[in-house]
Amino acid sequence: MGKKRTAILWIRNDFRIKDNFALSQAEQYDEVLPVFIWNDKDKNPWKRGAASKWWLHHTILQFRESLKSYGSQLILLRGSPEEEILRVARLVQASDVLCNHTHHPHDLIADQTLQGLLEKEGICFQSFHGSLLCPVDELCKKDGEPYLVYTPFWKNFLKTYEIKILVRPKTVPPVPQKAKNSGCSVEDLNLLPRQKWHEAFHLHWSVGEAASEKKLKDFIAKGLMSYDKLRDFPATDGTSTLSPHLHFGEIHPQRVLYEIVKKFGKLSDIKNENVMQFCREILWREFSYHLLHHFPDTPDEPLRERFRNFPWKNNKKGLHAWCRGQTGYPVVDAGMRQLWSVGWMHNRVRMISASFLVKHLGIPWQEGAKWFWDTLVDADLANNTQGWQWTAGCGADAAPFFRIFNPITQGEKFDPDGSYIARWCPELGRLAPKWICRPWEAPVHILNEAGVRLGDNYPLPIVDHKEAREQALWNYESLKSQAGSPSGSCPGSS
Ligand SMILES: Cc1cc2nc3c(=O)[nH]c(=O)nc-3n(C[C@H](O)[C@H](O)[C@H](O)COP(=O)(O)OP(=O)(O)OC[C@H]3O[C@@H](n4cnc5c(N)ncnc54)[C@H](O)[C@@H]3O)c2cc1C
Repeated sequence: MGKKRTAILWIRNDFRIKDNFALSQAEQYDEVLPVFIWNDKDKNPWKRGAASKWWLHHTILQFRESLKSYGSQLILLRGSPEEEILRVARLVQASDVLCNHTHHPHDLIADQTLQGLLEKEGICFQSFHGSLLCPVDELCKKDGEPYLVYTPFWKNFLKTYEIKILVRPKTVPPVPQKAKNSGCSVEDLNLLPRQKWHEAFHLHWSVGEAASEKKLKDFIAKGLMSYDKLRDFPATDGTSTLSPHLHFGEIHPQRVLYEIVKKFGKLSDIKNENVMQFCREILWREFSYHLLHHFPDTPDEPLRERFRNFPWKNNKKGLHAWCRGQTGYPVVDAGMRQLWSVGWMHNRVRMISASFLVKHLGIPWQEGAKWFWDTLVDADLANNTQGWQWTAGCGADAAPFFRIFNPITQGEKFDPDGSYIARWCPELGRLAPKWICRPWEAPVHILNEAGVRLGDNYPLPIVDHKEAREQALWNYESLKSQAGSPSGSCPGSS
C-alpha cells in the first residue's frame, strides 16, 4: 500500500464549497487539513479594515459549519502564514499545500517566500485559479500589453470566455487525527470591532455561501430585468448587493454568469440591455484585478504619474466632516452615513461622495480610499483602488478630472423624491424634494416647518460648490503643462 497522502487546504478568501478549485483538488488525498490563518502581526499596509473583519468573522463561522457537514473541520490559526503553514505541514507530514490564488501584491510576495520554504522540505505548493472569471494575466491586448480602456477588455472577454463551473464535491477527506481540535476559536481571532458601530450590520446582511446563492437567485428573478433602469437610483433595490459575497469568495463570479446563461442563453447572444449591463459590471471587477495585477503600486500611487504632482490639500477638518456625513451636501452625507451604518454604499453615491472629497475638498484620493477600506464590508483592494483612481481622474479609463460631479444636481437626478436622503439624514426628511438637496436655499419658513435648523441640527455646506469647482479646475490646470490627457468612459456611470 502507498504512503498516505496528506494535504493542507489553505483557505484565504474563498469561503465556499461550490466552485472552489483548491477544494475540488482535495478529493484526491487521503487526508486533508483545512486551515485559515489570521496574521495579526501583518505588516501589510492594506490589511483588512474593521468592517471587513466583521464579515470575515461571520463567514468563517458559516464556512466552518459547511465543512462540518462533510465531516471535516476548519482549523483556525494565528500567526504568519509562512510559519504556521510550515508548522502544520510538518505536524501532519503533508505532501502538498493547496490554495487559491491571491491577487494582493503584498501576499503574492509572501507566497513566493512560502513556496521556497516548502520546496526545501519537499512539500509542493499548489495555487489554483480562484475567484476570477479568467486568470488575471490571460486577457491582454494583441501586443501582450495590459488594457487601459475597459470596452476592448470587455469585447475580448466576450469573444474568448467559456464558463467552467465545478460541481459541489461529494466528499472532503478526513482531517488528520493529530491536528483534530487544534487551533483556536473564532473569538480568539479578535475580528469583531470593539466599538459597537457595526451593530446594524446584522439587520442588513446575511453572510455566507447559502445566503449569497439565495441573493443571486432572488436578484435574477426579481431585480435583473430592471437593473439598467434602476441601478443608479440609491433609494431602490436596483443592484444585486453581491459585492461582499464576491469579495469573500462566498460565490464565484462564474456561478453568477452560469445562472445568467442558463436563463438567457450564450453571453455573446444576449440582447437584453439589463442583463448585459449587469454582466458588464461584473466584468469591471475583472478589469480592476487586471489593473492591480499589472500595476501593483496603484493602491498607493496614481496610475497616471503626473497626478503625483497634484496640489492636494491637507484638510483634516474637511476629511472629518466627510467621514462623518457632515458636509452640508445631503446626498454626500446620506452616502457617508449609509456607509457608516451598514458597511456599504450605493455605487452612484460612492462616485458622488468620492468626487466631493477629491474635487470639492481637494483631499488626496488615498485618504478616501483608506476610509472606505476601513468601513466597507466589500472593501476590495482591486475595486476600491480602481473606483478611487477612476473618480480622481488618475486611473485607467478614468473620468476626466475636469468632469466634476455637482452634488446638488446629482442628488436631484438620482434621488428625485429625496427618499434616500430622508432615510439616512432624517433631520432633512420633512423637506420637500425641491429643497432636500439644497436646504440652504430654502426659505426660512420652509426650514422652520420641516424642523431644519442649518448650522444646528444639520450643517451648512462646508464649501461653496461653485468656488470649490473653480479651485479644483485651477489645480488641474496647473498639471496641464505635462504630457497626456486623462479621458475615457466611466464604470457604472453611462
Ligand atoms: C470610490 C469607489 C470605491 C469602490 N470601492 C469598492 C470596493 O472596495 N469593493 C467593491 O466590491 N466595489 C467597490 N466599488 C465599486 C462598486 O461601487 C461596488 O462594486 C458596487 O456598488 C457593489 O454593489 P452591488 O454588488 O449591488 O453591485 P452591482 O451593480 O449589482 O454589480 C454586481 C457586481 O459587479 C461588480 N461591480 C459593480 N460595479 C463595479 C465597479 N464600478 N468596479 C468594479 N466592480 C464593480 C461588483 O463585484 C458587484 O458586486 C467602488 C466604487 C467607487 C466609485
